[in-house]
Amino acid sequence: MNPDAPIRLAVIGHPIAHSRSPRIHTAFAQQLGLSVDYQAVLAPLDGFAATVAELRTRGWRGCNVTLPFKPEALTLATQASPRAQLAGAANTLGFEGDTLWADNTDGIGLVYDLVAARFALSGKRVLLLGAGGACAGALAPLIEAGAAEIRIHNRSPDKASALVERHLPLARRHGVNLKTLGQLDGGAVYDGVINGTSAGLGGQALALPSGLVKPGGWALDLVYGPAAEPFLSWARAQGAQTRDGLGMLVQQAAEAFALWTGQRPDPTPVLEALRAEANTA
Ligand code: NDP
Repeated sequence: MNPDAPIRLAVIGHPIAHSRSPRIHTAFAQQLGLSVDYQAVLAPLDGFAATVAELRTRGWRGCNVTLPFKPEALTLATQASPRAQLAGAANTLGFEGDTLWADNTDGIGLVYDLVAARFALSGKRVLLLGAGGACAGALAPLIEAGAAEIRIHNRSPDKASALVERHLPLARRHGVNLKTLGQLDGGAVYDGVINGTSAGLGGQALALPSGLVKPGGWALDLVYGPAAEPFLSWARAQGAQTRDGLGMLVQQAAEAFALWTGQRPDPTPVLEALRAEANTA
């Protein structure tokens, strides 16, 4: 192997043109003085495994995985991290000899971003809206971060119940009171509310009552840009501090980059650059 060859990485999805991952990982590589070639790869809907196999054969070190392939990515792994297994999905794959390892950095990226925003988790009451893949990835890291109580509310209640069931042993080990929440009532009981639904992407506002989050509490939407606005403006009207999902995106990428290269980039300047670009767009 040529020691001067760049580290080859990719993000695979369908669609993929919108992905900011090449921009983020290229910035990480520049920051650390590493030679990295990071590409966006469109896989056919029935061709994810074949696309991964081809990258492996051609000497790629690993790849990120985005919609709709995260659950399938986990099934390809010869070694899967506990957090990927709990999530039932992987967003990061690594190729090392005969080993194809899988991890899920979405949830830890969310927790790092909450920490960066000084949105307290430890000992707090947290409401998670949604029970799709992103929430599944977020739940174990949220539990491990020491929230006192986590409630999960989802449009399809069965999915919230299944998520809670799967995470109960972990929650018990960490002393976290983990339950589903059927009806959304006001009463300012939550210190933090996380919108992990994709409602905003479809231009829909969630029907949320006033007083769900404590004044001075916090609210974070996993989506970013205009799609996050309906939820974030609801939260601001409750007196909550708000944040969109761009920080989580950069943090999960930094975690993946560290897994592949052994070097952890500083996400802050990359996030600031992305925010500046968004403001001047
Ligand atoms: P999924 O498709 O797996 O799940 C979607 C979730 O949103 C489900 O809980 C679904 O409920 C709910 N939902 C969708 N539309 C509505 C609606 N109109 N009203 C109420 N609930 C609704 O998607 P993911 O979990 O993978 O992604 C969720 C969001 O998180 C996406 O917008 C994605 O872009 C974002 N994300 C951001 C990341 C980041 O780094 N910032 C990383 C990963 C994801 P139901 O079960 O009833 O269908």
